[in-house]
Formats: sequence, C-alpha cells, structure tokens
Amino acid sequence: MNASVVIQGVRKRFGSTEAVRGIDLSVPAGCLCGVLGPNGAGKSTTIRMLMSIIYPDQGSIRVLGSDAIAMKDRIGYLPEERGLYKKMRVLEYLAYIGALKGLSGSEGRRRALAWLERIELPGVERKRCEELSKGMQQKVQFIASVMHDPELIILDEPFSGLDPVNSRVLARIVTELHAGGCTILFSTHQMHHAESLCDRVVLINRGEKLLDDSLDAVRAGHRPTTVVARTDGPFEQAAAAAARVPGVASVERAEDGSVLAHAADRTDAIDLLAPLAATRLFSGVSLKRPTLDDIFVELVTAHGGHARQPEPNHA
Ligand code: ADP
Repeated sequence: MNASVVIQGVRKRFGSTEAVRGIDLSVPAGCLCGVLGPNGAGKSTTIRMLMSIIYPDQGSIRVLGSDAIAMKDRIGYLPEERGLYKKMRVLEYLAYIGALKGLSGSEGRRRALAWLERIELPGVERKRCEELSKGMQQKVQFIASVMHDPELIILDEPFSGLDPVNSRVLARIVTELHAGGCTILFSTHQMHHAESLCDRVVLINRGEKLLDDSLDAVRAGHRPTTVVARTDGPFEQAAAAAARVPGVASVERAEDGSVLAHAADRTDAIDLLAPLAATRLFSGVSLKRPTLDDIFVELVTAHGGHARQPEPNHA
C-alpha cells in the first residue's frame, strides 16, 4: 500500500498531560480521512507533529516518505490557529503566499482570483484581510493552504467557525480536491462532517485511537439498535404500546414526536419492525442507523471510559 502518512507508536506529553498516547495511523494515498474526537482528544497535537511543528516524545512519523519540512511544497496545511496579515489586501496576501510556494506573481494572482470565485468569495480581492468576516478570512486561509496544488492536504478543524452555507461550500471543494486525486486528512469535533465526506474515519479519545476503518466498514460493524415508529395519534398511547412489544427495552420521544423503541441486548432491532407495525398505532416504522456520534459514545463506553460528549450535529 502506498501510504501518504505513516505514524507509528507516537506519544506526546505536555507536563502532566498525556496529549497523545501511542497512536498508530496509516493514511493511504488518495484517501479522504477524517480524524474525529471531542475537544482535547489530541487531534491538533497529532497534526502538529505530522507537520513537524512539534516533535513526538516517542514514535516515528513519515509524511510522503520523508518529513513534512522536506516535503512542504507538496503539502497544504490549514492550521487550527487562524491568522492572516491583517493590513494586507486579500489578493496581495494570496500572491505573497503563492510566491513563498514558488509561484510567480502573475500566476499567484491568477490562481488567487480563480480560487476566490471557486470558494464563493468574489469581489473581495481588494479588501484588507481585517475587513473580512471570520468565516471569509477562514476561506482565504484555506485558499492559502491549497493554491500551490499540493498532493497532500492537512486541515485542522477546517469547518469550525463556518456557518452551514460556508461549511457546505468547503465540503464541496474538499470533495472536488479528493476526486481530483489529492490525499486529504482533516480533523473535526463535529462528527457529521466526517459522516458526509470521508471514506476513512479515525476516532480519537483522550489521546488514544479507538477506531480506524473505512466508513462503510464502521457502518456495517454497528447495526441499528433502535426503531423509529411514527405516530399520528397521542404519543403516550403509542409509546405504551411500543414498550409492551417483546424485545423492546425502553422507549423515548424523538424530536419530531415519533416513538424511539430501543432493542433489548439480545434482540435485533430488525425483529421489532413487524410487531411494532402490527400494533396498527404507527404510520411508519424504520430502523434508525447509528450516527458516528452514537458509535463514538458506544466505543468510549465499551472501553470503560467516559467521553466528553461530541458536539451535536450542527455547524
Ligand atoms: P484537540 O485538537 O483534539 O482538541 P489537542 O491536541 O489540542 O486536542 O489537545 C490535547 C491535550 O493536550 C489537551 O488536554 C490540551 O490541553 C493539551 N495541550 C495541547 N497543546 C498543549 C501545549 N502546547 N501545552 C500544554 N498542553 C497542551
């Protein structure tokens, strides 16, 4: 396998905090990989080590077969800290970044203008960076990290601070870059971004890797344990009837007023569909596929730990 990033047995401690506790990771070339976990899980520390900004106490890291400093022209990096040269105008700033990556002034400006269109920021090229909203600045910083056409793109929390519309724009561009052959690794504490984008997910909690697999395999390995039963009648009556169905361990109310029927330990949720439908109190019954949030909580609980709850599914 041709791996763009290989991390082996990496540990990093800050004083009494063990930020990263023996992580192994291999990111195949061409992969779109999400590194997920709550705030404080160790994602940024891992990414900073990948970028040779800080060094591991133990373990080894290879990026494009070498290290990030030697390979810097082939890597695009969006750090978690956001920062532009405030007084510089956007076009001037991007041309300057392009020049640092070896682009001529005219090529840098050409690419910058094309990227501003592509990322839905037309007409800002003459504005000073400080005049832009935070979300707009973040998009400019994203352009700065990819305008030299890197083959490996590493994005630390690229979606945090973006509103849903801008998150969608960025997600589209990440998907396009991936389709164009880039290897992309990004971190997020918002699981739904990974759920809709990645082909591989890595879950980290408290400095340890809990899961590392293709999204399809993760989904296949976590079967639904809950049935959503929609009712047009009174919730209480429907919930009581659902609770009496053998194999239902508990019921609760979903946000939309449906009954959520949770399967007992030895019961397959699929076997609850027919008996719930047979009560004739529901207009529809379907399996609730576990989200990455659900899977994360399940894994952390199974490891005997307690998760800092991931953020709910909104930007
Ligand atoms: P994440 O990116 O998943 O939110 P981080 O990698 O930033 O997590 O942090 C992991 C842990 O390491 C946290 O407890 C954080 O407070 C600690 N940490 C990170 N960087 C430093 C640092 N430079 N000095 C001290 N502690 C740090």
